[in-house]
Amino acid sequence: MIDLHTHTYESDGTSSPQELIEAAVAIRLEALGICDHDTFAGYDAAVPLAASAGLELVCGIELSTKLNVDPQRKGRSVHILGYFLDAPPAREFRYWLARLQRSRRDRNRRLALRLQALGMDVTLAEVERLGHSLAGRPHFARLLLDKGYVETLQEAFDRYLAEDAEAYVEREEPSVAEGIGRIVKAGGLASLAHPVRLFPGDPQALDKVVAGQCDMGLRGIEVYHSDHSPRDVEFYLTLARRYGLAITGGTDFHGANKPAIRLGTGIGGNIRIERELLDNLRALAIRR
Ligand code: AMP
Ligand code: FE
Ligand code: FE
Ligand code: ZN
Repeated sequence: MIDLHTHTYESDGTSSPQELIEAAVAIRLEALGICDHDTFAGYDAAVPLAASAGLELVCGIELSTKLNVDPQRKGRSVHILGYFLDAPPAREFRYWLARLQRSRRDRNRRLALRLQALGMDVTLAEVERLGHSLAGRPHFARLLLDKGYVETLQEAFDRYLAEDAEAYVEREEPSVAEGIGRIVKAGGLASLAHPVRLFPGDPQALDKVVAGQCDMGLRGIEVYHSDHSPRDVEFYLTLARRYGLAITGGTDFHGANKPAIRLGTGIGGNIRIERELLDNLRALAIRR
């Protein structure tokens, strides 16, 4: 059993790299992929720890990008996974990530001001203390919960942080094309994360968008994910065949931030990914 999509506390998970590796060893995962949002900090810290634990570690990233389907409306958020299977990501890519992090920090500053304007006692410094290398909206949600402004993390998003909520502020985000292009140029395999979030209930729209992303360099699709029903999985397998995409998968483990999702096995045991899936990805990476 493997899990190729997990988060550490360096993005919006709650486990340290050490805790994540211990948990992976405890359930006898054969390989663990760390795909933090827009940072390799968790993966980098995990490399020596995984080596001494004898755990196979896969270098990944999850980029937040914007899809502009309708220029009249705000861009839809699309997550693109990047897997670096045969060589570490190019240095240039890390510089680019550092730029993204600055844009997130700038957004965080404006978001804190916005919450203050709404009468809440929330400072950037407090949020950043919760966020390790990369504070984001989930850390704002945690702070709002800790301070009693909301009763659940989800309420924090619904009332204040979600794209249609009161305190939302835009952030500079790369386009899908740029995200995919940067991963490919850095030597990675780009895969569409949790396609179920893209156009729920509209398979034709998803099909069209996937076709477009293939032209941008997309080479994989996350068929297995905690949020996918068996029917979803069937449909994404069809898309993978139709567009010649590699199959990727993982639980999207976030620790206590998404407590229903268990490392390796997903929600209520709805996931089991065999090692063979990673072997197939590696074979593709070598042939590239
Ligand atoms: P950021 O990249 O800092 O804007 O934070 C994005 C993260 O916030 C996502 O990866 C999710 O974990 C979380 N998130 C975004 N929108 C929502 C929402 N409507 N409900 C719950 N969590 C959300
Ligand atoms: Fe996340
Ligand atoms: Fe995601
Ligand atoms: Zn994720």
